[in-house]
Amino acid sequence: GPAPEADGEARAWLKRHDATFGHFIAGKFVAPASGKHLTTIEPATGKTLAQIAQGVAADVEAAVGAARSAQSPWAKLGGHGRARHLYALARMLQRHARLFAVLEAIDNGKPIRETRDLDVPLAARHFLYHAGWAQLQEREFADHVPVGVIGQIIPWNFPLLMLAWKIAPALAAGNTVVLKPAEFTSLTALLFAELAAEAGLPAGVLNVVTGDGATGALLVEDPDVDKIAFTGSTEVGRLIRQSTAGSGKSLTLELGGKSPFIVFDDADIDGAVEGVVDAIWFNQGQVCCAGSRLLLQEGIAETFRKRLIRRMETLRVGPPLDKTIDMGAVVAPVQLERIKALVETGVKEGAEKYQASGAIPAEGCFYPPTLLWNVHPSSTVAIEEIFGPVLVAMTFRTPDEAVMLANNTRYGLAASVWSETIGLALDIAPKLQAGVVWVNATNLFDASVGFGGYRESGFGREGGREGLYEYLKPKAWTGRKARAKL
Ligand code: NAD
Repeated sequence: GPAPEADGEARAWLKRHDATFGHFIAGKFVAPASGKHLTTIEPATGKTLAQIAQGVAADVEAAVGAARSAQSPWAKLGGHGRARHLYALARMLQRHARLFAVLEAIDNGKPIRETRDLDVPLAARHFLYHAGWAQLQEREFADHVPVGVIGQIIPWNFPLLMLAWKIAPALAAGNTVVLKPAEFTSLTALLFAELAAEAGLPAGVLNVVTGDGATGALLVEDPDVDKIAFTGSTEVGRLIRQSTAGSGKSLTLELGGKSPFIVFDDADIDGAVEGVVDAIWFNQGQVCCAGSRLLLQEGIAETFRKRLIRRMETLRVGPPLDKTIDMGAVVAPVQLERIKALVETGVKEGAEKYQASGAIPAEGCFYPPTLLWNVHPSSTVAIEEIFGPVLVAMTFRTPDEAVMLANNTRYGLAASVWSETIGLALDIAPKLQAGVVWVNATNLFDASVGFGGYRESGFGREGGREGLYEYLKPKAWTGRKARAKL
C-alpha cells in the first residue's frame, strides 16, 4: 500500500518547543504559574508525546484578563475588520493543512484520511463562513452587542474542529476567548494559537489555557467570564450548569447522545449498511451524534445482520498515519477500558457479540469494530453512551414502535431514518426528538446549519444564524431623538 503520511513537520514543531508547552496568553506562550505539566501520550503507541501545562487559578486569571483587555478594541474593529482576521485564520489553516492533519492524527489516534479530508477542511470552512457573518454584522445585528469574554471548554474527539466551532462565531460576533482544550488533545489548539498570532490576530483575542477538568472548573467559576460554552459529557455539563446557576453568566451546552439509526424493511440495504459504517465506526465511534443504536424492522433484520458482519470484516484498524486504514486508535487507555467494560456488561445482559476477525495492532489503544446483537431496550448498553466503536442492535415491528424505541432515551442529539418510501420518512422524522434528523443519510454537517441537542444532549446551537446569536446579546434602546424620527 501507499507509504504512511510523513510526520517530520509535526515532530519538528514539537522539537522546536522541546515537546513542553506553556499556556498561550496575550499573544505568546507563558510558563504555567504552578510550574506543573501533564503528560500527553500518542494513543497508537502509548509513547509520551508532549508535556502540557496544568492551568491553575493564576493562569486562568491572566488569560481572562488578557481577553478582557482585548475585547473592546476587537469589538471596535467592526464587522469588516474582524472578517479580515477570520479569513486570515482560514487561510492559515489551509496553508498548514498537512501539519494540522498529521499532528491531530498523532495526538488523537484518528486516521489521517479523516483529519486531512474532514477535520481540517471543515475547520477552515467554519472560519470562512463566519467571516461572512462578521461582514454582515452592522446591518444584520444592529440591535445586538457582543456578550464579552467567553470561556470555552472542548472535548478530545474533534480537537481542532471543536475549536473552530467554538471560536469562529465568538470572534465573528466581537467577543474574545479563553479556550480550555481537553487534556488528551491540546496540541492542535496550541499550534493554532501560535500560528494565529503569526497571522496577525491581535494579542488577547484568543487565549489557550491547558489542563484537566480542574482547570476547566476554574474557568467556569472565574467571575470576569461572561459566558461559558461547553462541549463534553452530560455529567460535566450538569456540574457546569449547577456552578453557573445564579451567576449572570450565559451558558450553552453540547453534550452526549445515544442516537437512533432506524432502518425500515423497504430501505436500500447496502446504502444503509454503508450509513452504519459511517455512523458508528467513523472516528472510532467517538462522535457525540454517532448512530449508536441500530433499530431494524423485523423483515430485514437477518439480511441486514449478515451484510453488516460481512462489511465489518473489511474494515481495517491500524496506525493513524497509514492512509489505507478505516479506524485508528481510541483516544486513551482509560477510554479503552471503559469500552471493554461496557461490552462485557452488554454480553452479560444477554447480547450476542460480533467483532471483526481482522488483526488489530497489539500495542496501543486499539479496539475492533463491534456489534452487539439482540440487545434489550432496557439493558445498560442500550441506555449508556459507549463513545467507542460499538453498535447495539434491536428490532421493531411497526413505525410507531420504531418511534417509541428511538425516543426511549434521555438524550436527543441526532437521528437517522432509512426508507425508500418518502411518505414514511416524512411521517417519522418530525416525531423523533432530536436536534437533527437525517433521512437516508448520517453525520452530515454544514457550517450554515445549527447543530445541537434536545433534552440531556444540551441546549444552544453551533453553526448557522442561530449559532451566532449564542454569542450576541439583544440590546433595545431608544431616546427622544430616535423616537422623533419614527
Ligand atoms: P468531559 O466532559 O470529561 O470533558 C470535556 C472537557 O471538559 C475537557 O476539556 C475536560 O477537561 C473538561 N472538564 C472536565 N471536568 C470539568 C469540570 N468539572 N468543569 C469544567 N470542565 C471540565 O468529556 P470527554 O470525555 O472529554 O468527551 C466525551 C463526551 O463529550 C461525550 O459524552 C460526548 O458525547 C460529548 N461530546 C458532545 C459533543 C456535542 O456537540 N454535543 C461533541 C463532542 C463530544
